[in-house]
Parts: sequence; structure tokens; C-alpha cells
Amino acid sequence: MSERKTADQRSSALLLNIGLLLTLHSVAKDSRPRRGSDLRELGVIHDGAVFCLGGKIVSVGSTKDALRDPWIKKRRKQITEIDCTGKVVIPGFVDSHTHPVFVRPRLVDFEKRIEGATYEQIAAAGGGIRSSLEGVRNAAKAALKAKVSNVLRDMAAHGTTTVEAKSGYGLTLESELKSLEALRDAASAWPGTVVSTLLGAHVVPKEFQGCSQKYVEIVCKEMIPQAAKRNLARFVDVFCDKGAFTPEETGQIFDSAMKHGLQVRAHMGQLSETALTQFLRFNPASFDHMDHVSDDDVKQLAKLDTVATFVPGANYFLGLKKYPDARRFIDAGVPVALATDYNPGTSPTMSMPMAMSLACTQMKMSPPEAISAATINGAWALRIADRKGSIEPGKDADLAVFDVQDYREIPYWYGANRCCMTILNGVVATRS
Ligand SMILES: [Zn+2]
Repeated sequence: MSERKTADQRSSALLLNIGLLLTLHSVAKDSRPRRGSDLRELGVIHDGAVFCLGGKIVSVGSTKDALRDPWIKKRRKQITEIDCTGKVVIPGFVDSHTHPVFVRPRLVDFEKRIEGATYEQIAAAGGGIRSSLEGVRNAAKAALKAKVSNVLRDMAAHGTTTVEAKSGYGLTLESELKSLEALRDAASAWPGTVVSTLLGAHVVPKEFQGCSQKYVEIVCKEMIPQAAKRNLARFVDVFCDKGAFTPEETGQIFDSAMKHGLQVRAHMGQLSETALTQFLRFNPASFDHMDHVSDDDVKQLAKLDTVATFVPGANYFLGLKKYPDARRFIDAGVPVALATDYNPGTSPTMSMPMAMSLACTQMKMSPPEAISAATINGAWALRIADRKGSIEPGKDADLAVFDVQDYREIPYWYGANRCCMTILNGVVATRS
């Protein structure tokens, strides 16, 4: 991707002759995450046009109407026109769950798993999350920033314009803050949008094994206050599962997050079931993974705006036969999102189209449901749906252009990248 960031290009872009424009404009009167049949409403415009100015979307409609607009007509020579004949334009993907701050791929885990070792066996043998800690603890902040910058650029090349990014491979006060600073630095050099999350509670590091409460106190009394004070994170995440943090510890960490003005989200139900109702008082933005959830909890979630975020890339890469039962959630009315879970151990993909393809083939989500889950509901999962996730006047100019005739081709051509252009807050990035 090469990013053209001249003042002119940021100030105006007119996408014309769009074969198929999916606006995802709001369908309900109330402003809430999409659920049920609303997930299938894509707001399709044939021969569409989008006009962006100063990083915002100004108008959305047909090419004919755009060319008749007196304001555009008068200034046509100064406006950058982008011909999208035969292409599909959708809102830029909102990848609402990623772990990009790490140094090395985990190739030993990869091979061990192929030979039959389980997630828990790999962790017990010194692999898993803990094996990524040394690299991050020893890395210079600039080196971490460079790693993150590369990933953000790759993500944009696949159509992603907003990324939630977690720390969580340092697990000391110093290295978690360093990770968050690397995220901040990479974000400021990227035209897209990064939402940072402190994941100090990713796993209990080796030096605290057998006394996890001491580590939880460091998370609550040092990491969270520092991250909040220095404005380095918007969310606090906890990996609440067997082998990670208990529900009680998760509650303590959420309490501290709320006390310091940070919102909460959690890895839930990946390996085992945890009762979710005990956390609802914290108003979590999202519960992620959700492979193991009770029927009662699904019923509860259907009444709330907490999003269930599926990360099928992890199921795929772990070689699991079972995927989250998306139909159970959607049919019950739970708002659902899709994300890559980009990380070195269990989901090394930065491709939202790949996550969508897995959702369609393995979780029986329809292509329209997958698109809503990867855009507007990703924005809801980050509580930024007022400016992200759909192509509507006033929202940020975040668009992805695909070289396909039909939007269903996005999840159809799995493993291939058909995204040819991304617009991030008004900045045009083309594949080179
Ligand atoms: Zn994760």
C-alpha cells in the first residue's frame, strides 16, 4: 500500500461510478448495535458515489446526483476523482480484536500443534502466550512500534481502517506501558484509527505462578492507574478462562478499570464456560470468542448492547472442528461482530475477509451478516459507531474498495486479497 497524504487528497475525494456501494446506513430508529434481521440490511446503492472532505463523509448517493450537486460541479477541477467502475465499496473494516505488539512468530507452537499437542499442553511446555514475553520485555519501544506499523499497513491493504489493539505480551508494568506507547506511536504515524486496550491480564506470568493475586494487584494498582493517567488506553481487557484469570479476579480488574475511567471488554468462553451475568454490572463493550456460552446467558445478551465478538481465525488456526455457534446468537437477537484476533500464537492473520469467509463457511453466517459484523458492529464493539462502521454523511471517511462485482465475493475468494484501495480518515491508500 502506498499512502498519498498530500493536503489536497486528504481534503477531498469523490468516488464515482461505484458498481455496488454498501452504505450500511442505520436501519433502526434507535441507535443500537445491529441484531437479528437488521444484520442483513446493507443499504445497497447501484452506480453510487461518495464525496469525502477533510477526512469526513459529506454526501452519499448515486453518481448522477453527485455530478448534479452544484457545490461539487463548481469545484470539480480541485476534487480528486476516483473511478470505481465495476467495483464494490464498503465501509472500512473495524477489526475490534487484535494483539499486534509482539516480536516473533510462534513457529514451535505451530509445529507442536500439528503434531497433536493441545493449547494447554503447549502452554504447560513453556510455549503459548508466556513464550512471547521475553521478546517484548527485551525489545526497544521503537522496534515494537516498527512491528505494529507494518501490521497496520498490511491490515489497511486488506480493507481495515480501524483497529482495536491490545498490549499483553509484556506483563510487567514497564513492558505493558512500553507496548501501549508503541501502539500510540504507530497509530500516530498511520492514517487509520487505533483504539488501544490494556491487556495486562492476558495470563499470569511465570514469576507469579501460585500467587496470581499478587499479579492481579499489580494490574489493578499499577498498570491500570498508569495507563489511565497517561491516556494510553481506552479499554481494559481480561482473559477470563481456565489457565488464565478467574471470574473473581476478572471482577477485581474490572472494578479498577471503572474506578479509573476505562471501559471493559473480555476474552470469554474460549476454552470453558463462565457465567456472564456477574460481569454485566460493568457494562462491557464486548465479550470475545464465545465458543462456550449457556443458553441463559445468550438470552441475557440479547437484551443488552454488549457485543458478542467471534474470532474464527483462532478456531481455524488451532485446528478445531468446532466454531462458535453464531446462529444461536444471531437468531436469539444478540449483536455480533467479527474480528481477526491477530496474534502470534493462535490467529496470525490480519485479513478481515478471511475472518468473514470462516464465519460464512464454518459458522453459517450469511455474507450480509458477516459484512455487518465486520463493519458497523465492530464499531459498536468499540463504542465508536457514532463515527465509524457505515458510510453516512458526518462519519469518518473510512472506505474499502474491492475489485469484485458482487459483495459476496469478498468472503468467497478466501485466502486472496481483492481489496484494491482503502481510504482511512480521508487518506487514500492504494495497493502497489
Ligand atoms: Zn485475543
